[in-house]
Amino acid sequence: MQDALEHGAREIGLILTDENIRSLELFAVELKKWNSRLNLTAITKDNEIAIKHFIDSLNLAPYVFDEDHMLDLGSGAGIPIIPLKIIKPETVMLSVDAVNKKINFQRHVIRTLRLNGIEALQARAEDLHKSYANKFSVITSRAFTRLDRFVSLAAPLLAKGGRLIAMKGADAEDEIAASDITLKELGFVVTNIYSYTLPCDMGKHSLVFITACESAWNKPSGT
Ligand code: SAH
Repeated sequence: MQDALEHGAREIGLILTDENIRSLELFAVELKKWNSRLNLTAITKDNEIAIKHFIDSLNLAPYVFDEDHMLDLGSGAGIPIIPLKIIKPETVMLSVDAVNKKINFQRHVIRTLRLNGIEALQARAEDLHKSYANKFSVITSRAFTRLDRFVSLAAPLLAKGGRLIAMKGADAEDEIAASDITLKELGFVVTNIYSYTLPCDMGKHSLVFITACESAWNKPSGT
């Protein structure tokens, strides 16, 4: 697994420390151990876990900053948020999934890896707006839901000037087109799409960057 991680990270311009690699390897061990009981992932081979889960997650690293307050919606087994936390220890992070057993697994990994500044919360995204309105400067998701639904669930939770990053497959363009009207209605716009191919031809993925339009912030209150 070490080779796949080092090679994959280098391709995206990251150098992993020995400690980063140890933590990711330990995460993989726990993932495989708990998977037999909890059905956390269909990906079980070490090299595939390294590339399709971990390196894929680390593609977010250049776009998440130390001073960010990050939320990951529908994080499942902790992807992308736990690999990202491993290499970005300063960023304060909240991981949310609706399924309790997945959050219990994430809490176990957070404790085992001694990660700080990350909390795993069992909740439905729909129920977060009361406690977490306008709290997060960046909200991410991978394989969570369609783009327009992600934006409508995340919008109330986003701080002014914040950004959304949806991790999508090769068909991102189609989904963006299908979500266009809803995004406009919500006052959001796709500002960028970054497409990348995972090492060893393990898939073409995209990051879709979305922010609120200026006009959304300038709207008079009550409209
Ligand atoms: N991000 C992970 C998991 C994707 S599967 C990965 O890429 O591997 C989608 C996850 O979203 C599931 O774990 C499911 O429990 C969660 N989910 C679905 N609807 C949700 C909702 N309304 N609120 C919170 N989590 C939800």
